[in-house]
Amino acid sequence: MLRTRIAPTPSGLLHAGNAVNFLLTEHLARSTGRELLLRIDDLDQERVRPAYVQDIFDQLEQLGIHWDLGPRNAEDLGTTWSQRHRLALYHGLLEELRAAGQLFACNCTRTTIARCRCAELGTDLDAPDVTWRLRLTAPCLVAFRTPHGTVSTDLAERMPPPVLRARDGRPAYQVASLADDLYFGIDLVVRGEDLFASTACQVHMAHLLGRSAFAEALFVHHRLLLDAHGAKLSKSAGAAALDRDPEGSTDVKALRELALQLAKEVA
Ligand SMILES: [Zn+2]
Repeated sequence: MLRTRIAPTPSGLLHAGNAVNFLLTEHLARSTGRELLLRIDDLDQERVRPAYVQDIFDQLEQLGIHWDLGPRNAEDLGTTWSQRHRLALYHGLLEELRAAGQLFACNCTRTTIARCRCAELGTDLDAPDVTWRLRLTAPCLVAFRTPHGTVSTDLAERMPPPVLRARDGRPAYQVASLADDLYFGIDLVVRGEDLFASTACQVHMAHLLGRSAFAEALFVHHRLLLDAHGAKLSKSAGAAALDRDPEGSTDVKALRELALQLAKEVA
């Protein structure tokens, strides 16, 4: 079964950039005969609010998006589809990487990571208060499929060794996203170009884990919508949420047109 997904994070109200990504993904799903999965990335429970979860369902309804698989409402998410139910999957993936010698313990902060020597120090992964990072030796060439052909990039140049497990033991985004995409058999990933490095990271991890079929998936990276000042829309930067549109309701038609425009650009 061919399948793609939309993967909102309930850590804020959705904005137009999210909406256009969802509409584009649905369009590509329908035009290529793929199933559409709704995956709500609620692993970071401290940032999840019930109102943000509800906002996802409200906005999907307003946008007229239909999904074939995934939670129908907040209750359904809690009982069945939450990432909390797949924690064993994420920890299993981490253990595989650990057994393959691909992880190192790191106690750097965001500011000292540039000078990180933890990969050479060989600190015990079971030591307290360390993050688990993925070993990256330069060059780390990763290739994956896009609509414009196979793209190859040096992951080591694109990011410092990514955190795969937080200090509190929680699996990180890169792990959960890959584990879920493998689990649900996703073969088309549609995301903003800001996640290009994440794609390379996840494909690299899939190779390390022997799930090379993931590199056969198609990855579509679209440009991001910018605000009036040319900055990318983001929840943390306070981008106008969809349901706070000055006209009082979201202009679905305009968003659909934007999504179709993006579909032409990425084809
Ligand atoms: Zn470090």
